[in-house]
Amino acid sequence: MTKQIVLATRNRHKLQEIRDMLQGIPVEILSCEAFAGCPDVVEDEDTFAGNALKKARAIARHTGHIAIADDSGLEVDALGGLPGIYSARYAGEPADDRRNNNKLLAELDGMPDEKRGAQFTCVIAIVDGRGREKVVEGVCRGVIIRELKGMQGFGYDPLFLDTASGLTFAEMDAGHKNSISHRSRAIQELKKILPEFIACCT
Ligand code: IMP
Repeated sequence: MTKQIVLATRNRHKLQEIRDMLQGIPVEILSCEAFAGCPDVVEDEDTFAGNALKKARAIARHTGHIAIADDSGLEVDALGGLPGIYSARYAGEPADDRRNNNKLLAELDGMPDEKRGAQFTCVIAIVDGRGREKVVEGVCRGVIIRELKGMQGFGYDPLFLDTASGLTFAEMDAGHKNSISHRSRAIQELKKILPEFIACCT
């Protein structure tokens, strides 16, 4: 029987991405928008996992369905993991990719190549109405370059270089990025635990 799972996002792109990647598993992924009064959860925890769990718990409570939520961001080695959970608003409110990228470049000004390592991290939490919770993670390592390159994608994509291909995320087509990204790696991990997770719950 097909299980319904609610994704704690109003972002249609994320909804489609997760639907595509979970094909073959008997689940129907619903958007939070399908439920009246679905709460907008404040992401004020101090870890990706804390934020993802907070969102998934709130949506599971509100809808009565199994809920999935994610949180992601860029962690730069030389900055002790920043911007991390602050990635979206690194340069302050309102969130602005261009200002965030400029701030990152300024923070790394003069930093030698070997100290420009970074990773995108994505954490996905899955929660049911019976107190069961699991968290999975996907990581993609790369290097922060010295100027923006490429027009695709969003966020820090133009500064994040995949050393294997020599391309930034913003120079890759969506298929290439999806084959190595932190988000797709986290979804692959979710795919491994999902059959067992849904087997016992409504
Ligand atoms: P969210 O948790 O997916 O909303 O991501 C939070 C922030 O992390 C975004 O606003 C971006 O600044 C950054 N980020 C997360 N994933 C990516 C990505 O794939 N490319 C570029 N930036 C990302």
